[in-house]
Amino acid sequence: MQLLKDKILSQAEIVNAHVLKVDSFLNHQVDPKLMQAIGKEFARKFKDKGITKVVTIETSGIAPAVFTALELGVDLVFARKGKSIVLNSNLYQVPVFSYTKEKEYSLVINKAFLNSDDKILFVDDFLANGQALMAVQELIDYAGAKMVGAGIVIEKSFEAGRARAEETGIEVYSLARISKLYADTIEFEGE
Ligand code: 5GP
Repeated sequence: MQLLKDKILSQAEIVNAHVLKVDSFLNHQVDPKLMQAIGKEFARKFKDKGITKVVTIETSGIAPAVFTALELGVDLVFARKGKSIVLNSNLYQVPVFSYTKEKEYSLVINKAFLNSDDKILFVDDFLANGQALMAVQELIDYAGAKMVGAGIVIEKSFEAGRARAEETGIEVYSLARISKLYADTIEFEGE
């Protein structure tokens, strides 16, 4: 998506060779027009897949996910992050390792919000090693539901996330695929 790539090139900060900071339009301040365009594009791509629910992870996935859910006419559920695993029979929960914070946390979804017949589109801000995606896949598995696709705003294609997702049969659709991060340059896949 050219609009997104232009935004990344003009506003993203390169933290290091692995991490990009996009606080000015996605992770802190949010550009609603860009989020709306993202939502429309994910909805266009997945509109024939019978999606019944969009699932994301708080906080940074919520903005693109809410526009996607609006366009698809379905509800959005965001998995909550918890510090420790508290046993609670009303919740599905799995441990996940945070890419940016380099520590483990637990991801939680209330059982009431996932049904066994749900077809789920996962939406997230970044795809790196696929830990977040696989953790959400596990939550969805617990519910007996199915993840039919993943809409990713920014994929770092030099990491292993896409391969891990595709191994499990999840279709990954990314709007910007970064193949390399240098100290001062961002390279997109195929350019
Ligand atoms: P993964 O679980 O695929 O390794 O990493 C994806 C998750 O880590 C996303 O939910 C995102 O919040 C975070 N993440 C991964 N890479 C980056 C990055 O370069 N910048 C930011 N801001 N977040 C990232």
